[in-house]
Amino acid sequence: MTRNDLIRSLVNKLQRRAAEIQEMVRTEFAELQHVSDHTVGDAGDRGIESHASELTSRMAESESRELADIEEALERLRDGTFGDCEDCGKSIPMNRLQVVPHARRCVRCQKASENSQLMAV
Ligand SMILES: [Zn+2]
Repeated sequence: MTRNDLIRSLVNKLQRRAAEIQEMVRTEFAELQHVSDHTVGDAGDRGIESHASELTSRMAESESRELADIEEALERLRDGTFGDCEDCGKSIPMNRLQVVPHARRCVRCQKASENSQLMAV
């Protein structure tokens, strides 16, 4: 597989994943809407409702973060900077991109950035 083939297949993968996430978020909000529509104002139902909305917002948060990562990766694909390490500018190895299509750094720079984040805490 050449790098271009890989990139082409990653575009498909990322676009499919983005559509999946958008669909998931839509379904969750529809369900939440359903719960609130059917809530008659007693205490027990309100408990369920707030639990559902907390769960939904937590899920939506991690999904929207992933979606943002994917959109960024697709953006880099359009610019032609996809697969280049953000820090050292070297090409990110294909095997890493296969595992983490939205990777922004090579393993070495990723580790360095995680370490500096840890040290900053
Ligand atoms: Zn790097």
